[in-house]
Amino acid sequence: MSIYTGPVFEMCRNQFLQIADHLQIGPDERDRLLYPKRAIAVSCPIHRLDGSVTLYQGYRVQHHLSIGPTKGGTRFAANLDLGEVAALAVWMSWKCALAGLPYGGAKGGVAVDPASLHPQELEALARRYMQEMIPFVGPHTDVMAPDIGTNEQVMAWFMDTYSMYQGRTVTEIVTGKPVGSGGTEGRREATGLGVVHLIGRALEKLGQDFSGRSVIVQGMGNVGGVAALELHRRGARIIGAGDHTASYYDPKGLDVEALLAHQGKHRVLAGFSEELAIPSEQLLEQPCDVLVPAAVERVINGENAGRIRCRILAEAANGPTTPEADKVLAERGDEIFVIPDILCNSGGVIVSYFEWVQDLQQLFWHRGEVLSRLHALLDRAFEEVTSRAAREGISNRMAAMAIGVQKVRDAKRIRGLFP
Ligand code: NAD
Repeated sequence: MSIYTGPVFEMCRNQFLQIADHLQIGPDERDRLLYPKRAIAVSCPIHRLDGSVTLYQGYRVQHHLSIGPTKGGTRFAANLDLGEVAALAVWMSWKCALAGLPYGGAKGGVAVDPASLHPQELEALARRYMQEMIPFVGPHTDVMAPDIGTNEQVMAWFMDTYSMYQGRTVTEIVTGKPVGSGGTEGRREATGLGVVHLIGRALEKLGQDFSGRSVIVQGMGNVGGVAALELHRRGARIIGAGDHTASYYDPKGLDVEALLAHQGKHRVLAGFSEELAIPSEQLLEQPCDVLVPAAVERVINGENAGRIRCRILAEAANGPTTPEADKVLAERGDEIFVIPDILCNSGGVIVSYFEWVQDLQQLFWHRGEVLSRLHALLDRAFEEVTSRAAREGISNRMAAMAIGVQKVRDAKRIRGLFP
């Protein structure tokens, strides 16, 4: 029996079992590699503007402490539950290990729709959540970052709350902060730019470049919005884009800048155009060269995987493709080049790591240095994944996860049962 339940954790567990079989990991090691070291659940009551009090449930899961502190995002989303947070923490461990970062994975969040809160209520909730987490986090214990529903401002509130309790400014407690508050150049764009860099590497492998390539992006937030704009700037055609409120499709190419300007003004894509609107469930199924799911988990599943029509699947979101969908895609035999999530979106945690290093040293790098170091780590991971996949005749996803799991396993073997 486990406290980690639900479809997202089940998906993560299934993936792990496949890797464990591939790496011939015995029963003694399996549970220790899969199940989190620690899970914290907290109640976060806040005063609402109307004078009432509402209580929100918060979580933080720290997967393993065998390599260094844990590291991971904080998600504010209405239906968040412990199983989802735990799965995201596990994936984060493999992602950090694959990128060669000295971290275990973590994830946290609050079950709340941030759009339902006034900015003052959001600040109260962010501060209360961090206050509840203070005994369990620290610059050398667990370092938070943004994820769905949180942003630079929320990270600044986290940092300020933690700092006030310490009696000094501790910028290294969170990453993804504004540059003026100890953040790093390039962090805001890091995940999206990393996705585009890796799409470039995949296109190279196929003997192609960005020019005229058709792209569909699901989720136009921090990751998808940056990726769409950069792809457009590099000459690709964004033929489809959507968020949780609306989806648009134009085979001639959407006006990405106008789309993002509309989103900037109205917070959502709904209302951009009636003429170009398509039902959101059809967005992922339109033919394109590059498909970029950049929203939530399990959007490509056993039901729709047969209808996906792309050459490159760049998994900007965490866990967008279920193991059932992987099977369907593999059986189709039309060779979609998958850039698996733990590689594809690792630019975020890589630049978060750079931010942490800079904060610890109080020595800051310029944007060019951040991006060239980012590209170097992404290139190394991309080569490792694609060469292992070719060598062992396995998918890019299996190769990426095998590398991540193996590195965590090696660290645990050396240290013993404690961490
Ligand atoms: P965000 O909140 O900035 O944006 C999320 C976007 O997805 C929004 O446009 C939202 O409308 C859309 N969306 C949500 N539910 C949807 C649905 N059901 N259908 C279609 N669109 C939907 O979040 P983000 O930071 O851009 O994160 C997006 C994904 O990338 C998540 O899976 C996250 O875990 C992953 N990720 C983010 C980072 C980072 O640095 N922010 C790093 C690594 C991975």
